[in-house]
Amino acid sequence: MRNPTTTTLGYALFATRWLQAPLYFGLVAAQGVYVYKFFKELWTLILMCVSGHATETYVMLAVLKLVDVVMIANLLIMVIVGGYETFVSRIGLQGHRDQPEWLSHVNSNVLKVKLATAIVGISSVHLLQMFVDVHHTPRHALLWGTVIHMAFIASAAILAYMSGPMAAHADRGHADRTPLRHPRAEPEPGDRRHGQPERETPAATPPAPRRPEPDADAEERIRAAGFPARKLLEDFDERHPRGFDREAVARLGKADFVAARRNVVFVGPPGTGKTHLAIALGVRACQAGHRVLFATAADWAARLSDARAAGRLDAELAALDEHALLIVDEVGYTPFDAATAGLFFQLVARRYERASLIVTSDRPLGRWDEVFGASAPALADRLAHHAEVVRLDGDSYRTRRATSAWAD
Ligand code: ADP
Ligand code: MG
Repeated sequence: MRNPTTTTLGYALFATRWLQAPLYFGLVAAQGVYVYKFFKELWTLILMCVSGHATETYVMLAVLKLVDVVMIANLLIMVIVGGYETFVSRIGLQGHRDQPEWLSHVNSNVLKVKLATAIVGISSVHLLQMFVDVHHTPRHALLWGTVIHMAFIASAAILAYMSGPMAAHADRGHADRTPLRHPRAEPEPGDRRHGQPERETPAATPPAPRRPEPDADAEERIRAAGFPARKLLEDFDERHPRGFDREAVARLGKADFVAARRNVVFVGPPGTGKTHLAIALGVRACQAGHRVLFATAADWAARLSDARAAGRLDAELAALDEHALLIVDEVGYTPFDAATAGLFFQLVARRYERASLIVTSDRPLGRWDEVFGASAPALADRLAHHAEVVRLDGDSYRTRRATSAWAD
């Protein structure tokens, strides 16, 4: 139990981060200054060109100056958005169509490296300006320009090198509140989900906080899960399925549903990305420290039937308890006989409120009688009780890509 006084003090200290907010708005004003400067330079350039006074060197220098201004403006926006997001408050741009690519994995290390490389870019432009105008540049200025540029490159390289191990370290203990990033995260104040143990056995021992695990373990779990391919949430084109519930999938991407022992059902026509999303959530669960097992419904049927034939169905179901998440892909393509449907019922009933399932199906739960016969209502009822049902709609992504490839 935490001491409430220290918690309140901590929160109060944490709240002082808002003092930084005005600084970022100050930088926005500085950005405005650069916009003014840019158009002033541009206007001068246009006037010079129109009046016929612009030499080629002049034009090149003026354009370089414009590029320079734009690069500094880019640097500014990176500091403003990245800094605000990292040090003050989440902006919540996930899913925004203009969300910068770098913002999804920004942290103070990434920011430092980005800044250093932006500075190298700016100093290259300066150096280029000097070389273009070499006849009017004193030798010592050239020399120092080059030396300083080299120093920038060296410091950027050192920062980039250092951010590798540092980022890996931070990643292990670091939070991630945004859905598009990995679920391994530092707990937010008042957020206890991340500290949950993977899964308790019925004779539960007191939960030990999950130790931050190195990536190798997550990789091992991903390999052991038996995914047919590696599909990531980051690679999922959210514009494709019609009426796609982006919010729901982003939420599920945090993998909290596994700790909460909830289920997920993806329902939709073929090719709308059900398997892709199921694997992607499975990968996230592995990264969050859970053991996962993936198989198609037909494979699960065979596995459970074999176990029953060998008289070890209970042992098999108990062994599956070791996996916090099971993925049953492609429910619906093969109808099952009553005995096999009964096995699925046992699996779902066994895991009900104890462990998670992700099921993908080409038909809504209301039509599962076509697959599971008389077992369907009881099975669907237990599965759906604590489940997020995500509907995907639209044309197949496979044929869409094929058609657009033809169109090209
Ligand atoms: P389903 O399981 O619904 O039949 P899949 O998940 O197998 O569909 O998708 C078919 C292929 O299309 C896979 O290679 C998958 O990665 C890809 N795919 C489907 N939807 C998307 C999407 N929205 N963005 C990116 N790839 C997609
Ligand atoms: Mg599929």
